Amino acid sequence: MTTCLVPAKDAARLLYRRAYRRIGLLTPIAADCGRLCRSKCCRGGEKDGMLLFPMEETVLYRADFLRVTDAKMGERAVRFAVCPGRCDRDLRPLSCRLYPFAPRLSKGRVCMAPDPRAAYRCPLLCRQAQPYLDPAFLSAAAAAVEGLRRLPGFDGFLHDYGRMLEGYEAFTGISYEEE
Ligand code: SF4
Ligand code: SF4
Repeated sequence: MTTCLVPAKDAARLLYRRAYRRIGLLTPIAADCGRLCRSKCCRGGEKDGMLLFPMEETVLYRADFLRVTDAKMGERAVRFAVCPGRCDRDLRPLSCRLYPFAPRLSKGRVCMAPDPRAAYRCPLLCRQAQPYLDPAFLSAAAAAVEGLRRLPGFDGFLHDYGRMLEGYEAFTGISYEEE
């Protein structure tokens, strides 16, 4: 039996940095989509924000533009971050890097699917935008989240996250179909 000598927080920091690097400068389309909608997804109210993934706050200690609070995702306690609508892009959370897509578990692997919470907000989820989506972004995003599954409890989080998204799917035209 091997013993892991790396403290959980250090391991989480390492894995999140690796995940952020995997996505790097890739974005859903090979252009600044913020010009399509005047960066709608960054213009929320004081209570709008993004879920943090498990232990993600350990890597966000320099992101002082974020206000992180406790929240609930179903029965699960989670951390939720609110920003003032501008940030240091290098320090933005994973949810921002993935938007308007969300990770789902399918046949034991992570894949990226349209995020139903973005259905009425993001023009990239329109059918007309599909040909412009960058497959390199989608596969890097899936690989980034796949790497995080080494964190204890991450699969359980993904399972609950998928259930939360199913709740949103019931109210939007966007649904996720397993391949
Ligand atoms: S709402 Fe969609 S199109 Fe607009 S900036 Fe955000 S990701 Fe890009
Ligand atoms: S942290 Fe940055 S990318 Fe994320 S919503 Fe705020 S301004 Fe937009």
